[in-house]
Amino acid sequence: MSVQRFSLHDGPGIRTTVFLQGCPLHCPWCSNPESQPKHPVQRHKRDKCSGCGACIALCSEGAITRGEDGFPHFDRTRCIGCGRCEQACPNEAIAISGKLMSVSEIVDIVKRDKDYYHNSGGGVTFSGGEVFMQPEALLALLEAVKADGISTAIETCGQTSLEWIERVEPLTDLFLYDIKHSDREVLKRVTGGDLDRIVENLKSLAGTGKAIVRIPCIPEFNLDEVTMRGIYDIALRCEVGELHLLPYHNLGADKYAQLSKEYAYSCEGLRNEELEPFAEMGRAFGLTVRIGG
Ligand code: SF4
Ligand code: SF4
Repeated sequence: MSVQRFSLHDGPGIRTTVFLQGCPLHCPWCSNPESQPKHPVQRHKRDKCSGCGACIALCSEGAITRGEDGFPHFDRTRCIGCGRCEQACPNEAIAISGKLMSVSEIVDIVKRDKDYYHNSGGGVTFSGGEVFMQPEALLALLEAVKADGISTAIETCGQTSLEWIERVEPLTDLFLYDIKHSDREVLKRVTGGDLDRIVENLKSLAGTGKAIVRIPCIPEFNLDEVTMRGIYDIALRCEVGELHLLPYHNLGADKYAQLSKEYAYSCEGLRNEELEPFAEMGRAFGLTVRIGG
């Protein structure tokens, strides 16, 4: 888990965003690849590394060796996320993303900014990864902050059981609910998502007025008339009145190199204006469509 205070983009007002590790999907444009595994992940920033070797000597798991280029190389299958290498590095070239935290530790942090939430209409947002990869922890967190009168939001891709959606719904004020595609075959092939499950879960929120659909607008994936029309149709069927179009950006590309992974989805970021025709299309359906989160 990790926690970000004074967040302005994960729901209304000033918020604290709690990121839960783990995601059931594998979207190739993901800007937070470090949040996909369910465990803490170690990133190496090669541009800051001097090759001093302090981290190599410290790692008791044999996860770090010196490569032929003189720099450390990482076997993340052996890493247990202990964080010793991060602490030992004199150049801040290593960062551990996510750490084990208890519910009470997180709730203590969230409560610190209660006055800001109250004055700005904000609250806490649970995000990921995918929040439903740790559903018991999510439920415990929601119960604890709700008991303290704090407004709650969840960011989700909807890939979970109907039972979990129904269990968290009474404790959640806002669902920021991703619909990434309207074609079940394409969604499955590219992201691993199950559109029927995702839509059924969204439909269960119909009538609550709590769901906003968010569409990550990705060139060459879903940014075409047929797909966007299909997503608007899903929103209408699920009685969702508001949608947010999120323009693709490639700001997470560097993280792939830090994780020794290839960023397979490198195309130009989108400008808000480029989404305006698609927003207009949704408005013609009677929907409220905003560009941006
Ligand atoms: S986090 Fe711990 S186990 Fe992982 S590479 Fe660093 S020292 Fe080794
Ligand atoms: S301790 Fe830091 S600077 Fe030294 S080799 Fe490891 S990552 Fe590079």
